[in-house]
Amino acid sequence: MLMKYSISLKSALEKGASLKRLNRREAFSLAETITPEILHELGAAALANRRSRFNDQATYIFNMHINPANICTMGCSFCNYAASAREEHAYVLEEDDIIEKVKRLNPTETHIVGGLNKVWPYERNLNLVRLLRQNFPCLHIKAYTAVEIAFFAKTSGKTMQQVLEELLEAGLDGMPGGGAEIFSERLYKKHWPNKCSPKEWLEIHKLAHSMGITTNSTMLFGFGDTWPERIEHMLALRRAQDEGGRFMCFIPLAFQPGQGNFIEQGPTPLDTLAVLAIARLVIDNIPHLKSYWPMTGLETAAAGLSWGADDMDGTINEEKIAHLAGAPTPKGLARNRMIETISMAGFLSVERDGRFHEVSSLEEIMD
Ligand code: SF4
Repeated sequence: MLMKYSISLKSALEKGASLKRLNRREAFSLAETITPEILHELGAAALANRRSRFNDQATYIFNMHINPANICTMGCSFCNYAASAREEHAYVLEEDDIIEKVKRLNPTETHIVGGLNKVWPYERNLNLVRLLRQNFPCLHIKAYTAVEIAFFAKTSGKTMQQVLEELLEAGLDGMPGGGAEIFSERLYKKHWPNKCSPKEWLEIHKLAHSMGITTNSTMLFGFGDTWPERIEHMLALRRAQDEGGRFMCFIPLAFQPGQGNFIEQGPTPLDTLAVLAIARLVIDNIPHLKSYWPMTGLETAAAGLSWGADDMDGTINEEKIAHLAGAPTPKGLARNRMIETISMAGFLSVERDGRFHEVSSLEEIMD
């Protein structure tokens, strides 16, 4: 069947495939591709774009998640991770266990995020960063979402700048991108009215960037959001990056319906691939695009490498957030399985560090 393309869509696909910036109208026209007839055109443009940037390489990191405690009272409607202190699935990790696990796994990077609570207050988290830095001088410590930074400032009586300065001094290397959800006032008021608003999330990241801290960015999708909301979110990140931002990576997070949630079905694999492809074409100034396998499943994440993504995140030992929300994926991957997955998807695996630099050859690591 001969499809009628709008002028904007034709231009968006051509410009996106050749690394040119899409204007606002072109960016929105990409939502027209979400039909079986022309979805593949979107994928082809995103693949051409990612090949020009990264050739056949796809990166991953040998990393570990530390989620100190899931006790949290923010009450975000979509969260299956949080628990009240009395609930059966509430847990609290202790410093000794964390240090012992890091020692045993010896990861390149730790990703630290958790619930907002009194058990792990600001000072205890600050001390954890200090302890990790003292024990593991080369470890890349990526820690605390904007939501946690706002909470630490509020509960400690310090400014956010002071909190970030103290964390940096303790050994922080960068911040993750969680907590952004989707930049939609409509969904913010409905689903997470007690924590950072979209505007505050962006302001905290801008503050971190102004202090030289690199951060990631995310977007939660597939929970009642619309394509225009997704594209507005991507454009807002692109603007922030233009204004001196230091975002390293954009990570679309496929919603996990979990148990007893307000929606039965998360996004389909095709929806996930379309989000990746559109992000690749719209956000031209954030260098990396991650296909986050714990939430999409390994196969869809691997397919995402052909739809614009250049990074598969990591081996993620000890991940708890997606899994308490019912993600059926494994809780960690062996290095070999990651390499095999990337290779089966038709790409060349490259192990990276927390700043997206290639690490020494695997033979050296394994020696
Ligand atoms: S999403 Fe984060 S802030 Fe919201 S309830 Fe869950 S753990 Fe708490």
